[in-house]
Amino acid sequence: MNTDNQLRHSHTNNYLLTERLLLRLMKKWAAGQDMEDVLIAAKSCNMKGQKAILNYLGEDHTEEERINRTMKEYSNLLERLHADQIDGCISVKPSQLGLSISYELCRKNLNAIINRAIEFGLFLWIDMESSKYTDDTLMLYLELFAHHRDIGVVLQSALRRSASDLLHLIEVGAKVRLVKGAYHENEQIAYVHHKEINANYIKLLEMLFSHNYENNNGFDNTLKFAIATHDSKLVEYAVKLSKTAKIAIKNFEFEFLKGIRDELKRNLVEEGLSVAEYIPYGEEWLAYSLRRLRERKRNLFLLARSLVQ
Ligand SMILES: Cc1cc2nc3c(=O)[nH]c(=O)nc-3n(C[C@H](O)[C@H](O)[C@H](O)COP(=O)(O)OP(=O)(O)OC[C@H]3O[C@@H](n4cnc5c(N)ncnc54)[C@H](O)[C@@H]3O)c2cc1C
Repeated sequence: MNTDNQLRHSHTNNYLLTERLLLRLMKKWAAGQDMEDVLIAAKSCNMKGQKAILNYLGEDHTEEERINRTMKEYSNLLERLHADQIDGCISVKPSQLGLSISYELCRKNLNAIINRAIEFGLFLWIDMESSKYTDDTLMLYLELFAHHRDIGVVLQSALRRSASDLLHLIEVGAKVRLVKGAYHENEQIAYVHHKEINANYIKLLEMLFSHNYENNNGFDNTLKFAIATHDSKLVEYAVKLSKTAKIAIKNFEFEFLKGIRDELKRNLVEEGLSVAEYIPYGEEWLAYSLRRLRERKRNLFLLARSLVQ
């Protein structure tokens, strides 16, 4: 091999190695591209005593073909979850099912996916997106919840309106996942400082735990709400609240994103609490992982260290 070829060869090898390392690190946060990847991740999650919440990545779809593909994917995914006896459910974004086009289209599509989930006895979460979709998402949820009980919706402690939304949702027996909120919102409608977002999270958490979930026959087996945060202080506070609240352990769960706070997940499982891991996958998995990577300086450090090694 001449020097030019040797150099080219060594560059190609370095590039392939870097790409492989990057891919391995990225797989920390998303299962990969295909359904088979996410099913493997879900099974490994179940082996650790955790449930799996599967999300096919994508949002703000405006092309019919993309929406139909997403519908088909979720439909097949539900069938596979059932066939493979995975302890899990799905979590969908309304804007990937047509909400960016029209409320009616999204309702029709969501209803079809929910019917498919019912066919297999599986739960479905509706993710909450930016504030431009909040009203429609809650309306969609309430409309569908009137007919299907095994569905849940997300509330964000960053939004000022969430306490009043939660009051109404608790009243109708809705199932709520509480998060801080992943979107940058205007100060008029949202808390923008960490301290305020956390204070509101505590207030909403107290509202969830102070409700009496007991009925005439004691507690039923169904999920009432989920605490979805990686914040140790909030998780600790939720555990403390659960000890005196009128709620059974099986009625609430802690939810985390894949690849984050794995030790905390393990500790909660050891304490006998319910834990679920949200696992995204799909063609857009690399972009999603890059977002997670940028979220924290420590993640960039981890990447740099593995590249040097
Ligand atoms: C299961 C689940 C579902 C979600 N669904 C939605 C949704 O539908 N809509 C929505 O708007 N948002 C959703 N989110 C995202 C959420 O709103 C927050 O943006 C995200 O969880 C970060 O906030 P945090 O509560 O973890 O607190 P933060 O204040 O961001 O973090 C608290 C602590 O957690 C640890 N941590 C946080 N991120 C990382 C990381 N990448 N790597 C390592 N450690 C980390 C750190 O110790 C940090 O100090 C969801 C989150 C989860 C866990």
